[in-house]
Amino acid sequence: MNVENYKKKVFETIEKYDLIEKNDKIFVALSGGKDSTATLFLLKEYAENYVNAEIVAFHINLNFKYSDTIEEVVKEICRIAKVDLIVKNVKEYGIDILKISKIKKRPVCSVCGLIKRYLMNKVAKENRATKLATGHHMYDFLLFYFRNILTNNFEWNFKILPKLKAYTDKFVTKIRPLIFVKPEENKYFCEINKIPFLTICPYSISCDYIGCHASKLSVSIYELIRNEKIDWENFLKSVITFNKKYFSTYLKEQEEKIGRCEICNEPSNQKICGFCKLVLTSNK
Ligand code: SF4
Ligand code: ZN
Repeated sequence: MNVENYKKKVFETIEKYDLIEKNDKIFVALSGGKDSTATLFLLKEYAENYVNAEIVAFHINLNFKYSDTIEEVVKEICRIAKVDLIVKNVKEYGIDILKISKIKKRPVCSVCGLIKRYLMNKVAKENRATKLATGHHMYDFLLFYFRNILTNNFEWNFKILPKLKAYTDKFVTKIRPLIFVKPEENKYFCEINKIPFLTICPYSISCDYIGCHASKLSVSIYELIRNEKIDWENFLKSVITFNKKYFSTYLKEQEEKIGRCEICNEPSNQKICGFCKLVLTSNK
């Protein structure tokens, strides 16, 4: 693997899809894994060399047994990258993920995913971030695409874009600079630059939640995605072109229709949002 080609591809993605604009304040959702860690370093390098933007890391401590150790690694990553770090612990919000998962009989990853999505959006807005960057890579999007088609959730596929623009102040614009690179390339980038990163979360290993990378359905889709004879990058580019052309107005209308939670005022399609319902469960 050639690191310069890898970087070039990420920087071209940033440029082509206008992922970073002058004076942006970009929150990078940093789990400490290879993908989000690579995102942080690449955005920092791009901002230093090409456009004046502030890069800030954001980490959610999930309050699992090993979460404090993860937080230490995340701090070390930010020290090396020379970026400020904001950490939120789910216990500050009265959340106990394992307890909720037990009471609700919901997979840990399903509860965890909802909480992370909610906090990433909320905390980024509270800190006046103009964009939220995540480390989703090419295989994440391909997996997402096929899983949604196979489970009849196809409208989520309209969100497969390098930049998911926010049309209202309910959301922050999301950017995905690694959309055309593979996970092993992110790993190699971290290793070659001697950047520490964490490996897989133990809860994912036995997870069969449909939205989890370890579920039986996801593993089967991965077999297809791993077929190198198919030009997956081109496939994704077609999906993006299609989404940009036909679904931008649809996404705008959908966002405008979303209401606000009566408790926290965050976006929700119901009176009480999913996050606040979990907080109520956690306090039972
Ligand atoms: Fe959360 Fe599951 Fe990811 Fe672990 S693997 S961080 S529990 S979503
Ligand atoms: Zn709420």
